Amino acid sequence: MTTPTTDESVLWDALFEHSGDAMVALRQDGSVYRANRRYAVMLGYTPEQMQSLFVWDWDIQFSKEVLLEMLRTVNDSDAHFDSRQRCRDGSVIDVELSNNGARYRGEALIFCIIRDVTARKATETRLRQSEERLQRIASQVPGALYQYRMAPDGTRSFPFFSEGVWALGGLARGALSGTNADPFMARVLPEDEAIIEANTQASASNLSHAHTEFRIRHGDGSIRWIESRAAPQQEEDGGILWTGILLDITQRVEAEEKIRSMAITDGLTGLSNRQEFNRLLDHEVERATRYHTPLAMIMYDLDHFKAVNDSFGHDAGDEVLRMVAALTNKQLRNTDLHGRWGGEEFMVILPQSGLAAARDVAEKLRTTIANHDFNRVGRVTASYGVADLAPSENAKSLAQRVDEALYRAKDRGRNRVEC
Ligand code: GH3
Ligand code: MG
Ligand code: MG
Repeated sequence: MTTPTTDESVLWDALFEHSGDAMVALRQDGSVYRANRRYAVMLGYTPEQMQSLFVWDWDIQFSKEVLLEMLRTVNDSDAHFDSRQRCRDGSVIDVELSNNGARYRGEALIFCIIRDVTARKATETRLRQSEERLQRIASQVPGALYQYRMAPDGTRSFPFFSEGVWALGGLARGALSGTNADPFMARVLPEDEAIIEANTQASASNLSHAHTEFRIRHGDGSIRWIESRAAPQQEEDGGILWTGILLDITQRVEAEEKIRSMAITDGLTGLSNRQEFNRLLDHEVERATRYHTPLAMIMYDLDHFKAVNDSFGHDAGDEVLRMVAALTNKQLRNTDLHGRWGGEEFMVILPQSGLAAARDVAEKLRTTIANHDFNRVGRVTASYGVADLAPSENAKSLAQRVDEALYRAKDRGRNRVEC
């Protein structure tokens, strides 16, 4: 029995033709010695058509001169590089090449294995572009973007912080290294740390959006309001990752504060307006009732004020109102509440004061005004009504009684105090 011998060239031919990789053998003059079917298909030719081509007919990465030089200098060690090749239909593919040179049947040949990496390159390009786009969004969005993580053991970290956080905190560029947000977090006002923590815990427990407004001390020394909004996400290990944004809302908060203050303040005197004063009065009456503490009230009204306006003009009248409010304020304690009831009528609430003490205060207020020289207008007087809160009396009734006392003061000759 004899073993059939295989002609080795048949074996190599079979390997060459059936390889899953594209292959070509080139002569040193750039002509094709042989291309396998796979490579011909890749470039859109038949193997026979390829036989009449030169490598520069399809390789567009290198010039003919460079290619000739490369072919001449290829040796028997592997060389790997990228190239771009033009197909028969004009389209261009990205390829990765492995070359080495060898003598075959008396000829110096260069053997190349070619891999089409167009799809991989395109994916890489898309990835890079999307990475760049994210980078641009993160660096140019107003404020700062961040990711905050709470590990299952409670450990906190910032896996990501966009560079906007430098400007937000007024920190020197580079004060934050990598994902270390400590220099920013150290600027949060201590009294606002609790609300941040409470909101974080609430958001963690029911996976709801976290929305917090807190203050930081900016690098320039000023206090800034920061708004944080973040969406939590449960992670596989049980940790929670928030992705969110930080915005400087100082201007908005200050505008809101101004509007709020305008809504409760009398524009002329800067005192509480009637609506706000009523709110404060309700509050004080409720407190005095609950804690059984005394509470007194003074109401005063300028005497013959119509005549002031008539003689000196409305502007001079306004100026007197401003001065009366300021003079009275000076005589009151910090805990006393002073409001403009309307026109030239004012109210004072004296917490912790009984009727006698309130009468003394009213008398002091009366003499202060009566003895003051109101410039052009000269002397101005006011009449005062005083009352204290009776057991289980409500705010409305107290205000009514103090109004009646004031009416009596007017009736009994003005520039006087009546209880
Ligand atoms: P009485 O001693 O009885 O209180 O006399 P009166 O003139 O002060 O009282 P009356 O209520 O008759 O008039 C109040 C006047 O106060 C009417 C109005 O001209 C003036 N007045 C009310 N509000 C303002 C204000 O905001 N600015 C100025 N300039 N005058 C005001
Ligand atoms: Mg008056
Ligand atoms: Mg009046």
